[in-house]
Amino acid sequence: MESKSVKNKFIPRIYSYCDRWCERCSQTEKCSVYADGQKKTEEHRQKGEDPDNWEIVVQDMQEDIKKTMCLLHKAAKEEGMDLNDLSADAEDIPDPRNHPLCQKAGGYMSLVHNFLKQVRRKFDEKREAILEKSKVLLSYEEDEVKVLEDMVFHYETLSWYHTLIPTKVYRALSSKMEGEQESDPELVRISFDDANGSAKVVYSGLLRSIVALQRIYTWDEELKNDALTLLVEADRLRKGIDAELPGHKSFKSPWFCGREVVT
Ligand code: SF4
Repeated sequence: MESKSVKNKFIPRIYSYCDRWCERCSQTEKCSVYADGQKKTEEHRQKGEDPDNWEIVVQDMQEDIKKTMCLLHKAAKEEGMDLNDLSADAEDIPDPRNHPLCQKAGGYMSLVHNFLKQVRRKFDEKREAILEKSKVLLSYEEDEVKVLEDMVFHYETLSWYHTLIPTKVYRALSSKMEGEQESDPELVRISFDDANGSAKVVYSGLLRSIVALQRIYTWDEELKNDALTLLVEADRLRKGIDAELPGHKSFKSPWFCGREVVT
């Protein structure tokens, strides 16, 4: 069982509206989800299992889902509810797939997916060029290597958010639609809170992706046109979020503390 002091070092629900990029998160020390993940990884290693093996990943996911469902049933029971009664309502959950913003986010993901392939090809070319030059000069230009490392950083940024953006846009719109259908003020508040929190994660991811695209734009002549197209698309998405879910601007969550999105 976790001691009180261990529990107290975590910020409650810090992971609720984060981008799940733990490798780049400055708040791992305060996050119980991260701590649980680390603990599980260590347990697998001690058993001689590879924590990244697909079967192990699926097994962990199944255990997490079971644990979450148990907690949900317990919480619902305490509130006098039976979750089994809610299954019929599941069909009423709004599906925003045809919403223009959802379509736009899906289109953006496909464009970025193709662009990332081009960037990877460029990495190979530039790496080859550095290697060839180093064979002749018996040394290499540190600046060139540094630039390449920077570009890998921006590539990873673009790559991480291009799949997260459409899924979070979907969730934000779905929660917004749910809020619009609700009559219970508390459920309306919860739905809109979820919509705005999800939208804020999208917005923050878009801003970081825009910076990454700007850097890639200035890096390579042949990537300029496509980087520019994506910059326009990312900016349209950003404006779409502002128009559809303006509440994201005032949404507060522990994860965003100290890293407020510049608007
Ligand atoms: S808050 Fe940070 S450490 Fe925790 S799940 Fe989110 S990204 Fe990972």
